[in-house]
Amino acid sequence: MSNLTKVLIVEDELPIRKFLSINLVRNEFEVLEAETGEEGLQLCLKESPEVVILDVMLPGIDGFEVCHKIRAAIPSTIIIMLTAKGQDLDKIMGLDLGADDYMVKPFNPLELIARIRANLRKVNSKNAVATSRIAILDLKLDLDQQRFYKNTVEIELTPTEFSIMKVLMQAPGKAFSRDEILNKIWGKNYFGDMKTVDVHIRRIREKIEENPSIPQRIETVWGYGYRLRGDMANE
Ligand code: CA
Repeated sequence: MSNLTKVLIVEDELPIRKFLSINLVRNEFEVLEAETGEEGLQLCLKESPEVVILDVMLPGIDGFEVCHKIRAAIPSTIIIMLTAKGQDLDKIMGLDLGADDYMVKPFNPLELIARIRANLRKVNSKNAVATSRIAILDLKLDLDQQRFYKNTVEIELTPTEFSIMKVLMQAPGKAFSRDEILNKIWGKNYFGDMKTVDVHIRRIREKIEENPSIPQRIETVWGYGYRLRGDMANE
């Protein structure tokens, strides 16, 4: 077992893969290579690399799907996606896929190495400060990774839904007015409709409640706003 950081390159184009591999080895990374998404996934599960360099365009299952599956299997892996110009960056960086970073081809390998190092630093400082998680009963919010879990199963929230859960989870049991929630999420100068809050809360409930029409987790405080229950006691 070496102490080198393990990087998996998933790229079907041999010249690119070799070029990256040579540069990574030269910079003292341990390198694993895969030619297809399937192969990449298998290697990933077997070797648990710290970093995966993942091309979007792959034969068979594409980089998007591989990214999604790696995320589900090993949430801590740093995933840097390689894309061609014009590919859907929103999709790559969106919460659905949860890639950490991306590089547009062609790129300088030294820049990729700098990105790898920057992302590793981010993860390491994250491990040092363990205050970035909020857990209320079976709900867990990971602020660094912008991830939300219920019963350790990840639930995909939009950025706004995530922000609302953050507000509620920081003060379980406290009733927040709609106005207060609007201000906290969108800022004081936002002239939003209070109903916006209701819409987002409804969507969150659909994701976290057993029965969204009889919510047990986010309670409505009539004529006022919402409150996250901090206990599971029956009334
Ligand atoms: Ca490719």
